[in-house]
Amino acid sequence: NNRTKIKALLSTEPTGQEVIVMGWVRTFRNNQFIALNDGSSINNLQIVVELGLLDEATLKRITTGAALKVTGTLVPSLGKGQKAEVKASAIEILGDSDSEKYPLQPKKHSLEFLREIAHLRFRTSTFSAVFRIRHSLAFAIHQFFNEKGFVYLHTPIITSSDAEGAGEMFQVSTLPLENLPRTENGNIDFSQDFFGKSTNLTVSGQLEGELAATALGDIYTFGPTFRAENSNTTRHLAEFWMIEPEMAFYDIQDNMDLAEAFIQYLIRYVMDHNAEDLAFLDNRLKEEEKALPQAQRSEQGLLEKLQFVLDNRFERITYTEAIEVLLASPAYKKKKFKYEVKWGIDLQSEHERYLVEKHYKRPVIVTNYPKDIKAFYMRQNDDGKTVAAMDILAPGIGEIVGGSQREERLDKLQTRMQEMNVPVKEMEWYLDTRRFGSVPHAGFGLGFERMVLFVTGMSNIRDVIPFARTPKNCEF
Ligand code: ATP
Ligand code: MG
Ligand code: MG
Ligand code: MG
Repeated sequence: NNRTKIKALLSTEPTGQEVIVMGWVRTFRNNQFIALNDGSSINNLQIVVELGLLDEATLKRITTGAALKVTGTLVPSLGKGQKAEVKASAIEILGDSDSEKYPLQPKKHSLEFLREIAHLRFRTSTFSAVFRIRHSLAFAIHQFFNEKGFVYLHTPIITSSDAEGAGEMFQVSTLPLENLPRTENGNIDFSQDFFGKSTNLTVSGQLEGELAATALGDIYTFGPTFRAENSNTTRHLAEFWMIEPEMAFYDIQDNMDLAEAFIQYLIRYVMDHNAEDLAFLDNRLKEEEKALPQAQRSEQGLLEKLQFVLDNRFERITYTEAIEVLLASPAYKKKKFKYEVKWGIDLQSEHERYLVEKHYKRPVIVTNYPKDIKAFYMRQNDDGKTVAAMDILAPGIGEIVGGSQREERLDKLQTRMQEMNVPVKEMEWYLDTRRFGSVPHAGFGLGFERMVLFVTGMSNIRDVIPFARTPKNCEF
């Protein structure tokens, strides 16, 4: 296949060389200029069709969405904003597209509309930019950890451990649940099932990750995660991807330093490798904001916001300080918060976003949360009330990272598990890490889609994953 991708062509010196390009028509003007896109770049390639090259019937088939093979020469372009164009010597229609029926017209469609035709939205500039950036982020994640000597570890998708005890799990059974017998106390008897145990789709690979980290040193997982979230928010999916590094000999400070460096590395990578896609999304946001009253428009564009995150340290505060800031805020005094604010609550998205967007105006790392709102495995602080947890909050989203130093002291861990009704007996495998050569260790989970939201400036998590799984989205 001797086709050249448009991205490569657009950065080549046009000297009249022969080229073959293949792609889809975005627009066709005056029976003369085709804007062709092949997905490699946000930019279209202009194809010039000279009078007499094609017959009437073929010209009619060059419609929005049609697939073409173009042979021609790469020549300097007289048009604005493009260095080169292709003067066609032959055009073959690879696939017709009935422009009357094609849902994507050459105009701006709303994201809501595109969500309804999610199977076609890859063909728009916005979504192709988002998914190229998503790809870059995934690549950069592996590069970051590889450079630091971390081992990429695959943790199971089907598991019998309930990492969070959050009760948001999808059950897995090889038999229809109604066919499984009941035990005396009315529970489903999974012993008849293939796995012989109640199994579920993973909500986190952390506990398994700890097993590996306390032998390999530094590991990370990067895989799909499932939560039967029954909330319909712009930051929750039922199926999302999570990156979970776990490091032996790390304390909470080391953990925060790594997470901050990691996020900055990812942003820098995308700024270096997806400049044109980012500029397109930046511009798209600016256009969208024009419809808003002046006061609601952001002072900075997407690129400036990202640059700011690179140039400044994240704010680091304790949970107690966060509550104090919220209680002293004008928003609280004017009763603008929907959820209650007092020491002991789990911070809600509105609280997190207030801290980031209105108060500190930068990403915020919150540490030392009340132990009663966090998982059993987090290291208990000496005050008896808090644990060495750390969440990272980002503008426009709220929580993007949840992490902690883990409780490495066997007695403290066992007591906490009992207090929180965690089945200690079934988790002897986990406790063995504390029995034999226990060391301080820490880790965190970064929600991949939330990171994509952060970098692209998109506002709904359904728009940064190719196929969203939410209560209302499962057609294919
Ligand atoms: P939230 O408070 O937003 O519900 P969480 O505290 O339940 O998140 P964690 O258990 O701490 O989430 O998971 C680690 C990270 O995984 C979160 O910081 C977030 O980035 C991401 N995450 C959690 N739940 C979801 C979800 N349903 N969809 C997408 N990402 C998620
Ligand atoms: Mg949650
Ligand atoms: Mg949370
Ligand atoms: Mg969390």
